[in-house]
Amino acid sequence: MRKALVVFSGGQDSTTCLYWAKKKFDSVESISFNYGQRHCKEVKIAEDIARGARVPWQLFHMDLLNKICDNSLTDPDMEVDKEKPANQPPNTLVEGRNMLFLTYAAIYAKSKNIQNIVTGVGQADYSGYPDCRNEFILSLNKTLNLSMEYEYKIHTPLMWKNKKEIWAMADQLGIFDLVRYKTLTCYNGIIGEGCGHCPACFLRKRGLEQYLKEIGQK
Ligand code: ZN
Repeated sequence: MRKALVVFSGGQDSTTCLYWAKKKFDSVESISFNYGQRHCKEVKIAEDIARGARVPWQLFHMDLLNKICDNSLTDPDMEVDKEKPANQPPNTLVEGRNMLFLTYAAIYAKSKNIQNIVTGVGQADYSGYPDCRNEFILSLNKTLNLSMEYEYKIHTPLMWKNKKEIWAMADQLGIFDLVRYKTLTCYNGIIGEGCGHCPACFLRKRGLEQYLKEIGQK
């Protein structure tokens, strides 16, 4: 039996990955992380979506992460960068986040005899987050295999897809409306269509408009 663990945040990308994994694998589980992000309702949304998908869900607490680095996702006093600054990542970057999450995911996966780990990171709409890049994922996959002597396979079905293509994928998976109205991607914590002007909303909305145009619905 092919089993997979999805690193799941309740956003557009990881929800698409969750349903992709349900199609591809015989058995799927999911985990979310609470690291003191601005919008703790993100966790509740993830739980509800996982439950709706009938996928077992676990929450891991990683509070230390927000205590040791400054970023606007966990510091309510810091304003979210409206645009990616030149030559540096935006201040929403939580340093090392994907490496830590995937490492904890791998430890948990091995304990449950799961070799496949699915994550929604990608570099097509490159956000400036170094740990979303393919090179990093390949490197970490190798490191995890060596560190735990286990044959992990990290799957990144969205790695080369832009937001428009991710909307198309959600539509093909039959979850277009679920993603559109029930997921949370917005940095200002507004579910569904979001605030419309933060960097996450900008990418999501632009991709949605392009996709709707392509299928002739706008
Ligand atoms: Zn927003």
